Amino acid sequence: MTLPRSSSRTLAAIFSGQGQPFCLKEFDKPRPGRGEMLVDVTCSTICGSDLHTWHGRRIEPTPCVLGHEIVGRIAAFGEQAPRMDLKGQILSEGDRITWTIAASCGQCFFCHRGLPQKCERLFKYGHNAISPGKVFSGGFAECCILHAGTGILKLPEALPDVLAAPANCAVSTVAAALRLAESVEGSVVAVMGCGVLGLNAIAMARHAGAARIVACDVSNERRVPAMSFGADDFALPHELRDLLGDLTNGRGADVSLEFSGAAVAAADAIAATRTGGVAVIAGTTTPGAFLSLDANDLVRRMLTLRGLHNYIPQDLVTAVDFLTDTVGKVPYDILTGGVFPLEEIEAAFAASSLLPGRRVALMPDGRV
Ligand SMILES: [Zn+2]
Ligand SMILES: [Zn+2]
Repeated sequence: MTLPRSSSRTLAAIFSGQGQPFCLKEFDKPRPGRGEMLVDVTCSTICGSDLHTWHGRRIEPTPCVLGHEIVGRIAAFGEQAPRMDLKGQILSEGDRITWTIAASCGQCFFCHRGLPQKCERLFKYGHNAISPGKVFSGGFAECCILHAGTGILKLPEALPDVLAAPANCAVSTVAAALRLAESVEGSVVAVMGCGVLGLNAIAMARHAGAARIVACDVSNERRVPAMSFGADDFALPHELRDLLGDLTNGRGADVSLEFSGAAVAAADAIAATRTGGVAVIAGTTTPGAFLSLDANDLVRRMLTLRGLHNYIPQDLVTAVDFLTDTVGKVPYDILTGGVFPLEEIEAAFAASSLLPGRRVALMPDGRV
């Protein structure tokens, strides 16, 4: 049940560690400081990494407000807050926006080298311990403070909240992987792992003009979704080599994209890539997934291996444009896993953990 509250108060779901229930707490509505923006959150989706934290497989500083896949409406601008989005569109109060998973300083060694996601002063949404006056830094709350250095993007009304929210994590990471691959137009593309990232990669590679897309997953149940997102072929890992061999005269894929998170899939992606091809490895974000690589093979096959973590702001633009172009054409609804009001965050996380590969959404205003 939602109780009426003063408009100067606002709710946040506080996470205090694995095994402890979320605590819904009211705070004074924050005021945006210099360079900041206050956003009323309309939708935030539960990412696999939020689930990892909830299950205790990933440790975040606590107490914190989780959630980084967020859509909201601009409520107030702080002094010197940006008035333009990543596309140069004017930002006004009430605009519906999403934003990059992190804010970067724009000044440091890595920011100057095209790696703002590795900024020395990186601020990541949904990953910070709260402190007095600094609560609203994640998506599972009624509002969020956007920091200076965040890439902001206005959303077209045609893109529903539940599809737009994952744009700033999964879909942007896929856009970054395709950017690192340089071009997939006319290419044979192998996609390893057909979860949320892999399925989006299939659809995005199709949209970008790939000639043939071969999806690969350990689960045969992912064959149908992979094909419905635009794959031409599906292979279990032990079938991949022969299938690609048949399709390419024994050469292998021009581009391999790895999103499964298993070390063996990264090895498979490298093995699947043709001489002179590119393999982008993006699925593994926990230590211990060791690869053994024959340097002779790397040399003789002249492979390009690219590791990828997160993305740059331009990838968010690519991701949102892609979703806008393909909404209604790609069956994104198979990736959505229901909508819960913020007050039911505990049930939402429980539902999400039973629906791997689907995005469960929280909508603070109780729209369900
Ligand atoms: Zn995420
Ligand atoms: Zn920086």
